[in-house]
Amino acid sequence: MPEGDTLHKLALAVRPRLVGQPVEHLRLRERGEIAIVRGHPVEHVEAVGKNLLVLIDRRWTLRVHLGLRGKWRAYDASAGWEAPARSATAVLGVPSTVLAFFRSARHELHPYRDQRLEQELRRLGPDLLAPTLDLELVVARARAPGYRDLAVTDLLLDQRVAAGIGNVYRSELLFLAGLHPWAPVRELSDETLRTLFERARELMGSNLGPGPRVTVGALRGQRRRPETSRTWVYRREGLPCLRCRAPIRRSIEGRQARSTYWCPRCQPAEARGRPPVRPEK
Ligand SMILES: [Zn+2]
Repeated sequence: MPEGDTLHKLALAVRPRLVGQPVEHLRLRERGEIAIVRGHPVEHVEAVGKNLLVLIDRRWTLRVHLGLRGKWRAYDASAGWEAPARSATAVLGVPSTVLAFFRSARHELHPYRDQRLEQELRRLGPDLLAPTLDLELVVARARAPGYRDLAVTDLLLDQRVAAGIGNVYRSELLFLAGLHPWAPVRELSDETLRTLFERARELMGSNLGPGPRVTVGALRGQRRRPETSRTWVYRREGLPCLRCRAPIRRSIEGRQARSTYWCPRCQPAEARGRPPVRPEK
């Protein structure tokens, strides 16, 4: 499941392999080979929310959004990458490296500083992993009138509030905050909102290194226990809560069947004096 940290990890990993190198080929599934970029150097690689942007010679921007199921691989150009790359949705090759994306939701080549792309990216909230983060701006966005009645679990996924949180982190953040997933935003204090997004930044930032995503014991001041689980609640339906042993619950919602996992005891609806407003599985 690609989240904001996936894209930042990707940018960190491929930047040294691509920047300064001339493009040898670029292939997008719907457009085929794009010859005009050939020979032009890759200038920069960056992650913005869940988008990867590859700037080519101040003339073009390759934008890839992995969506829910996208994956990426970087191959040595001399290695046998051809077979897997054939099924790729986007392939960018420089002399040493071939970067291939599979099942990406978006893969587009835009002119440099394309208005349409810039407008779209401007609609995103602050990137939670950007070098500096204005938390007050995130809180102000979460306080927009349209979000008052939204469930906090949906707020966390809304990339217009803050960019980067996906399905794994939203469940983990709600557990760490002891918040019931369907608590409406209007019931949360500014301090609670600030802490949620601050922790999102910290959790995602602690996962930029190699290895699998770990959220248990990943916050400052938390002991890194030798847990058997990497996550508190995510993908732990029916298993005992690591804190209270109650079985973790899961609810599936939306057309894309996204799941929220939570502990009914650590994240009680009753604590706020109201029943859950959404059906639970
Ligand atoms: Zn619990």
